[in-house]
Amino acid sequence: MVARVVPVDPFDLVVFGATGDLARRKLIPALYHRLHDGQMPDAARIVGAARSDLSADAFRNMAAEALEEFVRPADLDAQTQKRFLSCIDYAQVDATSSEGWSDLAAAMPPREGRPRAFYLSVAPRFFGPMAERIHEAGLSGADSRIVIEKPLGHDLASARELNATLAAHFHEHQVYRIDHYLGKETVQNLMALRFANALFEPLWNARHIDHVQITVAESVGVEGRGPYYDGVGAMRDMVQNHMLQLLCLIAMEPPGRFEPDAVRDEKLKVLRALAPHDHPEDVVRGQYAAANGTASYREDAESPDSRTESYVALKAEVANWRWSGVPFYLRTGKRLRTRVSEIAVVFKEAPHSIFPAASGRWAQNVLAIRLQPDEGITLGMTIKDPGPGGMRLAPAVLDMTFADAMSSSKLRMPDAYERLVMDVIRGDQTLFMRGDEVEAAWEWVDPIIAGWEERGDRPVSYDPGSSGPEDALMLLHRDGRRWREIAT
Ligand code: NAP
Repeated sequence: MVARVVPVDPFDLVVFGATGDLARRKLIPALYHRLHDGQMPDAARIVGAARSDLSADAFRNMAAEALEEFVRPADLDAQTQKRFLSCIDYAQVDATSSEGWSDLAAAMPPREGRPRAFYLSVAPRFFGPMAERIHEAGLSGADSRIVIEKPLGHDLASARELNATLAAHFHEHQVYRIDHYLGKETVQNLMALRFANALFEPLWNARHIDHVQITVAESVGVEGRGPYYDGVGAMRDMVQNHMLQLLCLIAMEPPGRFEPDAVRDEKLKVLRALAPHDHPEDVVRGQYAAANGTASYREDAESPDSRTESYVALKAEVANWRWSGVPFYLRTGKRLRTRVSEIAVVFKEAPHSIFPAASGRWAQNVLAIRLQPDEGITLGMTIKDPGPGGMRLAPAVLDMTFADAMSSSKLRMPDAYERLVMDVIRGDQTLFMRGDEVEAAWEWVDPIIAGWEERGDRPVSYDPGSSGPEDALMLLHRDGRRWREIAT
């Protein structure tokens, strides 16, 4: 069980690409959990759709296998599984032809007041054509929504084109652009921490914050996705979307209300306040080398002369009153020491020490928001070392790690997709990106990538299992700072 659930009304959900990896690993298990926890009603209908010629029963078997593989045995009971599978149907459609669409439409007569969502879990080149076919098949009524996930364009021009295609068939309030980082419990908790407590807001500015670090480190390489990834790179794959979204949540002004456009307006202002990046030395690109039998990035990418980065670190500046002079350091990479995603807000040092040198040094306060693994929030403090021995200072951590609380109360941490899919059904866009946000992020990222291309920059090499290239350490050293350890 998870903590508390508010049931949603019956709905129709079509998952295009239902036989694919995202559907099997995330969407089908997420929907099962929502039924299991009493949020999804038995009257909901989930229609899997893909080109494969499958009967409804064959697709149900596929869904049952996905549950066996991706749901913890403790959460998988036969009765709920049976109820879940009876909500499922299948339709054979092809994004590139009219085949199957009229059957899908006939199987889904519109029902007044019943939301219908179309989840496009397919390659991005199909987003436009599918939106068009959904519309042509008469499936896009006032109660319909369309859901897409990154990559949302490859650059500003293609993002604009995609937004325009979607806008031709759906209103903006019907378009749900998922960034699954925003569905994470900790990320939502960051908003609660900032805006439901009076404690932090007075300190949340350039007077008290020294800098911010955002890290998304992966221990795996590009694995089987090498040739695909090689056309993308870390900047487009991680920085343009997830990392800039996280930066927005840290840097945004308090919205007037916790409502979709109020929140998204504030995030957009942050993206538009990002100073243009005209210092090439403030961006470091890396590619992992080969070691101990593991392939190099270039081998994985099957591109011996590739210039695509598997790592990027950069310094960003939010040019407004609140953040003037506060660097935001972002880094992300593959095949690093361990898998960890966190935001660290590093406060300035106390202005004056009243303690003798023998007491030891205090550490800067750090608010660390851990997204994975072990979601949670910690606050690093300096305290008196307990016990006799005079005034000695020691570091201590206030720990708000939810994983511990969850495991002690047998609560399960819901996956981001569970929250986000239910938000789609409820019609709540707060945790989804608006089209103008996506474009503003590309507007900032595009010139950086164009600069690399113009200068013919090559990524530097870094050791697999390390914390990234030396140059990235220097990026902070030059400013008299250091990265936090990449550690779990
Ligand atoms: P995938 O495993 O390649 O699955 C693609 C799905 O699309 C399959 O079900 C395939 O089924 C269907 N499909 C292919 N061509 C089609 C056509 N012409 N008409 C209708 N259906 C067609 O891809 P994925 O990894 O699940 O990713 C899906 C989307 O999610 C992509 O946009 C990806 O970038 C995004 N995404 C994925 C992940 C992830 O963890 N996998 C994470 C973030 C974002 P048939 O061959 O039977 O048609």
